[in-house]
Formats: sequence, structure tokens, C-alpha cells
Amino acid sequence: MILILKPNIDVEASEYKQLVEHLSTLQNIQLRVHRVQGVEQSLTEFHLIGNTGALALEDMKNLPGVEHAVRVSEEYRILGRHKVDSRANYFDYQGLRFGQDTLHVFAGLCAVDTPENVEEMMKTLRDNGQQCTRMGAYKPRTSPYSFQGHGKACLPYVFELAGKYGIKVIAMEVTHESHVDEINEALDATGHPTGVMLQIGTRNTQNFELLKIVGRQQKFPVLLKRGFGITLDESLHAAEYLASGGNQRVIFGLRGMKTNIGDPHRNMVDFAHVPVVKRLTRMPVCIDPSHSVGLRSRGPEGILDLLHMTAQGIIAGANMILVDFHPAPEKALVDGPQALLLKELPHFLEDVQITREAYLKRQALAQHISIGN
Ligand code: PEP
Ligand code: MN
Repeated sequence: MILILKPNIDVEASEYKQLVEHLSTLQNIQLRVHRVQGVEQSLTEFHLIGNTGALALEDMKNLPGVEHAVRVSEEYRILGRHKVDSRANYFDYQGLRFGQDTLHVFAGLCAVDTPENVEEMMKTLRDNGQQCTRMGAYKPRTSPYSFQGHGKACLPYVFELAGKYGIKVIAMEVTHESHVDEINEALDATGHPTGVMLQIGTRNTQNFELLKIVGRQQKFPVLLKRGFGITLDESLHAAEYLASGGNQRVIFGLRGMKTNIGDPHRNMVDFAHVPVVKRLTRMPVCIDPSHSVGLRSRGPEGILDLLHMTAQGIIAGANMILVDFHPAPEKALVDGPQALLLKELPHFLEDVQITREAYLKRQALAQHISIGN
């Protein structure tokens, strides 16, 4: 059971103390306290673990300091959607809202290579009204002999160029806890010109120690990619590791499943799971058409498979699109074959817009019909 306390409640307030004292008298119930510092208010949640079946929801709602109580019967305690659950399905970061009703495009470089390419990318994004991007500094590669990313050396110019072109959030993969410190240090050193969304890649979805560390920090939101060879349930539990550590600002990323059944695409596209994740949890859902499709093939009508798959995700309600672009894909050090050209960005964004409008019309139609019934 989760007790959501009144916003901004003070730990020294008498109602807070009374509540803690009362809960400590309950038999076989453990208490875990989660605090979320939002822009305008701080929220405190008490998670009651153990024999909560014996507690009456109405009684718990009436305890001092409690605003509402949620009975958690399902698996994903914190990020899951539960019966009579009024908790938010969004969070705010860098002045932008990320939620189950919003859509953001994170177009950018799979891997940072040169400052010139970073600048060209950022400028193109700004010229096309974008405020978010993806930039890989730490690259997990199949071969130890492949380019591993520039690491912390590139962070200062990536952050400064983001600031110069008004980019507010960069999705950036981390594969080790030291990378979080390096990102923090580089942001401090450059005066916080931008924000970072930490990305946990598909190879690390079940790196539980990394999840615990990234979950314990609340400065950066996290994009967690699903594991490419595990069940959806296992990946959703991985997300719950982040939340149980204290960070509930989690976006769940679909990026395709590894199997040759998906050939000729790089992975089997799994965007059918967009509505499933939104139904089971309160997380916004990201799609990554680049790593799912992996190539620039087109249908006979001339539309790239990559754009078709993006449209599939959006029409199903996706909230974020992570997509690879590069000024000269043939020279890219990582994943050139799947990168879109910078001159293709306006087309990409227009296609996204068309599909998003269609999704919103479908949503309005479904709501209209369900009210009529
Ligand atoms: C990436 O987004 O750069 C990446 C490596 O993705 P994934 O973890 O999904 O393979
Ligand atoms: Mn890649």
C-alpha cells in the first residue's frame, strides 16, 4: 500500500510525527519513505510493505498527513497503474513535460564523433524547432576493438553547443556509475547550459547494480531501454528498480527484440507494446525506430521503413522518439547504415506530425464513443 502525504509536508510537523508513530505500531508492516522534489512542491510517499491486506484503505486515508492511499496489488508497485490510482503519469524536466499524453522527438547522433558534427546537428535541430536530442558519449560495442565513444572528453563541447542552440535535454547512455559523476562534473564546469536524460541501454537493462545507482540519484530522469532478449515483464521490473531506489522520473524505451525472425530488419519491431506499457504503468513510452529497423530501406511507395515504424509507434500512442541522424552517415563511427540525413529532418518531423494528429483524432473518437455507451 502507498500513502501519498500532503504536498510539502514537513518531517517536523506534528501530523507527520503522529503518522510515523501510528505506522510503527502496525504488526508485520515495514515502512519505506520516498521523497520526490518537484519544481513547485515536494511529494512524500510512504510505502507499506508486508501484511497490508489487513489494513482498511478508508482508515489509512484518514490518518494525519495523508492525502490519498493506493492499494498496490500488482507487480510494479511504484511505476504501475493500480486501482483508484490518481498518481501522475508525467514529470517535468528542464521546463518540458514528459508524460503519457505528450510527444517529444530526440533526434541526434548515435555517437558523438567531431565537434563540427555535433554543432551541425544542434543547429539543424534548433532551425527545426527542436529542444531535445540524443548524443552518445559512452558506447557499448559488441567488439572491444570498435570505437567506444569519446567519453568524458567530449562532454564539455556537447553541453556548450547544446546551450548555444537552445537544446534543453540530451538523452545520453551511461554504462557505468562513474559516467554519471562525469556528466555531473561537466555540467557544473560548463555552467549547466543544458539538461541530461540518462539512458540505460538494452545490454544493461538487468545490470541491477547500475539500476540501483541511477535510481538513487534524482537529478536526472532516466530512459530505460527494454532488454532485447528478455520478457516485457522482466524489463518493467528493471524500471521498478529505478523507482524503488527513489527515481520515479523514468521513461520506458522500446527498441526491438533480437531475433532473426525480424529479418531483414536489425531487430523485430515491438511497438505493439506501446499501449501495453501505458496500460500497465504510469511511464511515458519511447520508441527507437533506428535501433529497431537498423537500415534505410524503403517501401515501394518511397517511404523509408524507419518512417513507417515511427508512424506505427506514434499511432499507438508513443510519447518519445529516439532517432539517429548524422551529417555524413557513411563516415559515422557507429550505426551509419541506420542514420537519417540532416536534410531529412523536416520530412521526418512532418511525418511525425501527421501521425500524431491521427493518433489524437483516434483518441478523441474512442473517448467520444465510450462516453456515448
Ligand atoms: C543507443 O541508443 O545508442 C543504443 C545503443 O541503443 P540500445 O541500447 O537500444 O541498443
Ligand atoms: Mn546506435
